Amino acid sequence: MSLHLLLVEDDREIRTMVQTSLSVEGFVVQTAVSLSEARALLQHRLPDVVLLDLGLPDGDGLELVLHIRKQYALPILVISARHQEAQKITLLDAGADDYLAKPFSVGELLARIRVALRHRGTSLAAAVTEHTLDGLHIDLGLRTIRLHGEPIHLTPTEFKLLARLVRSAGRVVTHRQLLADVWGAEFTEHTHYLRLYMGQLRSKIESDPAEPRHLLTETGVGYRLAVT
Ligand code: CA
Repeated sequence: MSLHLLLVEDDREIRTMVQTSLSVEGFVVQTAVSLSEARALLQHRLPDVVLLDLGLPDGDGLELVLHIRKQYALPILVISARHQEAQKITLLDAGADDYLAKPFSVGELLARIRVALRHRGTSLAAAVTEHTLDGLHIDLGLRTIRLHGEPIHLTPTEFKLLARLVRSAGRVVTHRQLLADVWGAEFTEHTHYLRLYMGQLRSKIESDPAEPRHLLTETGVGYRLAVT
C-alpha cells in the first residue's frame, strides 16, 4: 500500500525535488501551491502525511496546521527557511510534528517522515516506554536508565524531562512543550530551568557532554532525543 503525501509548497524547485524523490520511494505525492488549494485537496482526500511550507502566497502555514489539528491526527511536517525561526516554534506548539530547515536532503526528509508516521501510528497503541541507542538503555516502566550496563541515578525532575523526550524520541520537542509538561503551564518562560537540567542530564548520560550524542539541541527551538 502506497503512502499518500500532501506537499504544500509554492517553490517549484522544492516541489519537483520532493515529488520526484518521494515517488521513487513509493509515495503518492499530491502538491498544492497555496493554503486554499491545500484545503480543497484535504476535503477531497485525506493524505497519510502533510509536508507544509510556512510562507505561502495566500497566508501563513499556521492556519493550515490549526485547520488540520481541529479534525485529524495525521502527521504534519513543516518546511522552514532560516528567517522563519519564530514562526516555526509557534507551528510546533500548535500541533505540527516536526520541521525541516531548508535546504534539506531527501534522506533527512524520509527519516523525519518515518518517525512522524511511527509516532502517529502507535499513538493509539501502547505508548513508547523504552529507548535504546549506543549503550544507553531507558525503561520508563521500570524507571531504570543504564549506560553500558551501569545504572544511572536521576533526580525526579531529570527523570520527568528525559521521559518526556523518550515519548517523542526522534522528534523535536519545543522549549515551551518541555517546560509545560515537566514543570507546568505557568513555567513556559523559564527556559533557564531547561538549560540547567539538560546540562545535568548530559553530564550523566553522555560520554562527552560537550558533544552530545543523545540529547540534541535544536537551536532556538528545543531538544530532540536521537534515535539513530
Ligand atoms: Ca514559500
